[in-house]
Amino acid sequence: MSVIPVKGTHDLYALDASKNRYVREMFKNAALLYGYHELSVPVMEYTEIFQRGAGESSDIVRKEMYTFLDKGNRSVTLRPEFTAGVMRAIVSNKLYATEDLPMKIFYEGPAFRYERPQLGRYRQFTQFGVEAIGLDSAAMDGETILLAIQAFALLGFEHLSIKINTLGDEESRKNYKKALKAYFSEHIDEMCPDCHERMNINPLRMLDCKVEHDQEIAKNAPKIKDYLSVASEERFYKTLSILNSMDIDYEVDDGLVRGLDYYSEVVFEIHAKSESGNDYGALCGGGHYSNLIKQFGGPDMSGVGFAVGVERVVSLMEELSLFPDLDEGIDAYIIPVGEEMAEKAFELTTSLRMEGFKTETPLYAGKLGSLLKKAVKRNAKYAIIIGEEEYARGVCQIKDLSKAEQQEIKIEDLRDALDALIIQKGE
Ligand code: AMP
Repeated sequence: MSVIPVKGTHDLYALDASKNRYVREMFKNAALLYGYHELSVPVMEYTEIFQRGAGESSDIVRKEMYTFLDKGNRSVTLRPEFTAGVMRAIVSNKLYATEDLPMKIFYEGPAFRYERPQLGRYRQFTQFGVEAIGLDSAAMDGETILLAIQAFALLGFEHLSIKINTLGDEESRKNYKKALKAYFSEHIDEMCPDCHERMNINPLRMLDCKVEHDQEIAKNAPKIKDYLSVASEERFYKTLSILNSMDIDYEVDDGLVRGLDYYSEVVFEIHAKSESGNDYGALCGGGHYSNLIKQFGGPDMSGVGFAVGVERVVSLMEELSLFPDLDEGIDAYIIPVGEEMAEKAFELTTSLRMEGFKTETPLYAGKLGSLLKKAVKRNAKYAIIIGEEEYARGVCQIKDLSKAEQQEIKIEDLRDALDALIIQKGE
């Protein structure tokens, strides 16, 4: 039997898990600042939810989904992204009717894509994301981008590269796709087999083909900005003016089309440079979409959102030393000296835990020296030592492990003393 994790998946233990949680928590804090509520959706959906949501022409649907038949012979898929499932949940629960609009939700959890594992690209990865539904405006789009930027600022990022583009409304895209088709049809013989398919399903996808030669061809393709309707152009400039008014640096990248079919109007990505030059790809990507809720049988309502790849953010934060000390350790390690004392130490530990102190005890009586070493290893602020003679007198020793200072204290005063000492240490 192999004990190797499935290719492209990872185990996260202790500090690594804390880092992943920290990034999600900071994003959640930013989302709460902007008035978002959490929506938790299942890890799997019926396959057609993603086929229709992410779109038949996306690489995700064509090649990357973990799809299987369940024992009832239904085709289900592990979510490759959240937006489609979130829209399905909004329609299933009629949240568009019961909630005040815009309805602003955040989500987090694992997503699964059968991709070639490499730096910043896994088969199971963690996403945090937001969606704001029911207010179709450049201001809502702008606010969503600001939320992403604020979350990265909370994490300590200083130099972000924000790429932004518009895909225009349906009319703009229809005309643009026509122009793309005409352009690519002159080069199609030199392009990869995938692009042959993309040409028929959605020529926009040819702009983010990964094949180098195809990328060269795509560079000279027509640009969306020449096909925008007046309304789409105005809307885009309004969103940009919101970013300008907040002094946000961004780059309009007219090659940015994003890999999912549902986007319309503004799309954006956030990148950051690693010091060693590692390219983790986009940390975050998102944009505005029009048809999703309607496609799932709900009303004609648009939305805007983004998703962050938590592992990529963690890797960059490690390189840039942006993490605070996440290994908090414990407040006190309770050391029993003498067989009789193990039980008493356990009682004391339990009562301190009830009071909210992070405490541990070895659950056996050992040698003082080796248990003190354990206390240091557990990163305890204090060791509390209870021996038989002292216990009989109602006292214990409290030892500051950073200073090697020790004092005797009444057991009944321990809670208050520990409280005071920890507050002092915090300062
Ligand atoms: P997407 O849903 O493709 O827009 O992706 C949103 C974000 O999720 C990206 O910007 C990445 O940070 C992250 N992401 C996407 N695919 C992967 C992957 N295979 N491994 C790790 N992170 C990913």
